[in-house]
Amino acid sequence: MMVNEWQIKQQICDVGKRMYDHGFVAANDGNISFRLGDGRFLCTPTGVSKGFLKPADIATVDDKGKQLAGPKPRTSEILLHLEIYHEIPKINAVCHAHPPHATAFAVAGVDLPSGILPEVEIFIGQVPIAAYDTPGSKSLAETILPHLKNNANTIILANHGVVTCDKDLQQAYFHIETLDMYCNILLLSKQIGKIRSLPETKVRELLDIKEGMGISDPRLECLQTHETNPEACVLAGSDEFLRGFSTVAIPQHTPDADGHGHGNGIAGTPSQAGQPQPTPVSSGTFPAIVAGRNIPGDEGLGSSSDTARKRAMEDEIERLVQVITDKLVQASGGP
Ligand SMILES: [Zn+2]
Repeated sequence: MMVNEWQIKQQICDVGKRMYDHGFVAANDGNISFRLGDGRFLCTPTGVSKGFLKPADIATVDDKGKQLAGPKPRTSEILLHLEIYHEIPKINAVCHAHPPHATAFAVAGVDLPSGILPEVEIFIGQVPIAAYDTPGSKSLAETILPHLKNNANTIILANHGVVTCDKDLQQAYFHIETLDMYCNILLLSKQIGKIRSLPETKVRELLDIKEGMGISDPRLECLQTHETNPEACVLAGSDEFLRGFSTVAIPQHTPDADGHGHGNGIAGTPSQAGQPQPTPVSSGTFPAIVAGRNIPGDEGLGSSSDTARKRAMEDEIERLVQVITDKLVQASGGP
């Protein structure tokens, strides 16, 4: 592969500026790298804001992360980038940032739903959450391995941020934009009301488009292996966010064999994530567990005939949440 190193360094600076201007990184956060193809990699230096990078600042490292050139020490997160380059030969660019809306899901430990927005399905697909580990460590780099094996180009890092990768810098960076806008829209639409999922037939049409564009997706591979029984493949993603949240902590559980965990937060700590949301149970004056907007029998698009009944139920649940909050505040002697 012949690349003009100076041009790539300029592209890294451009991507850094866009990350900073979009608010995807604060201060000196985030890092960007590129595979030169001769066993060397370009990467951003540590301790420099991505908004003010100059091509001359960019460091060159070998495939173990050892610095070969550059006036400033390379990013401490290079091991995370190298893990991706080692695992997927077709990847040439990696970006890491802390975009606020996506990082909110990383902090809450709530899996992203899928089958909501067409472009998201096509360009980033189902986005997994990798378990937490200390930034800059070899163990953080290893947390993303199962997801890379599953062909993810966009991975949320629990309690940290996101890492994206693709064949060039622009594509890798665009995944951050797509992901953060998606998370922002999810959060906004939940405030307006109920989030409507696309029907499975329409998700399949999007996967066909994706296949035509040559973009891999674990769901496509599943459909190919199960040609005669496609119902064996789960096309819709986690419904955790759609169901809402519990005020009662549910113990953490481990990732599935395919690496798609369910709310992989910090090991050993309680998490709201990963368990089916119980329906409200009445115990005396208010239910012990408060459900979100999980309305039994609701099948997504087109189910608007009993909207009024559902709205009334949701309002009732909201009212109960308020009652409980007030009682908790009273009990704690606040506010
Ligand atoms: Zn970071």
